[in-house]
Amino acid sequence: MQKSIYFKVVSPGKVAISEILLPEDDAPLQINEVGNFMKMLRLKNNLSKKEVARLLNFKNINKTIKNIGKIEENSECFPEYIEKLVLLYKSSMEDFYRAKERGKSLKNQIEKEQEEKRKIRVQQERNFYVKLIQKLPLLFVHFEEIMNTPEYYFLPLIGASVSSAWIGRARTNLYLGEVLTLWKNQSWVGTCNQCQGKVYVTRIGGSVLSGCGYGRGFCVNCMGMEEVQERFRPFFFPLIKLPIRELPEDLDFITIDTLIERLERNSRNK
Ligand SMILES: [Zn+2]
Repeated sequence: MQKSIYFKVVSPGKVAISEILLPEDDAPLQINEVGNFMKMLRLKNNLSKKEVARLLNFKNINKTIKNIGKIEENSECFPEYIEKLVLLYKSSMEDFYRAKERGKSLKNQIEKEQEEKRKIRVQQERNFYVKLIQKLPLLFVHFEEIMNTPEYYFLPLIGASVSSAWIGRARTNLYLGEVLTLWKNQSWVGTCNQCQGKVYVTRIGGSVLSGCGYGRGFCVNCMGMEEVQERFRPFFFPLIKLPIRELPEDLDFITIDTLIERLERNSRNK
């Protein structure tokens, strides 16, 4: 897991930076099969980078040392080096290509796994909002109750987030109470890029200075997550005007199903 930062609104227009964990599959690919192979050969031959650079006999020895490092650390490609190095290390090009193939198939495999995970996340997000938006009238009827019940207010919304150029990566966990307020006052309601339908915005990103950016959310017409036509600023400013709520430390998070169940029960009992 990699650490990143997210922001917290501390007063209207002011943000503080804090830490949050990134999802695992946002981590960059780090595959170095060729580099590891080349380094292993050099060490097996008991040679330092400097010694190898001398033996290669290129003009600029410091540059050669650096390039050997780049090959070993990042599998960078220097065709004019490889054959010479392989010969020097008493290995074969066949073994070199095998290492290269290993790297490729490992990369493919990891990319495939990440793509699978991404698809599952997209599906989960869609299912979540299908449920939530269908129950929107119920949520609005119980708006005050949701605002006043920490378990309801702090229900995390899947994929609901904000990022802005001058505050680093993002707040990746907007809560129901925040987003519902923005939906209720219509500031996080947009127009679908695909069908001109109504979109309940859940995610925005961009730059306050340039106004460039995007908004994305659930389109009631497409029944899926779509981009909106409107840009960043009209979404950002209503968000930072929201009152600040501290997440209670001992809060039990509930699911959307539990929330709906409880609200429907309350409705019946009234
Ligand atoms: Zn649409």
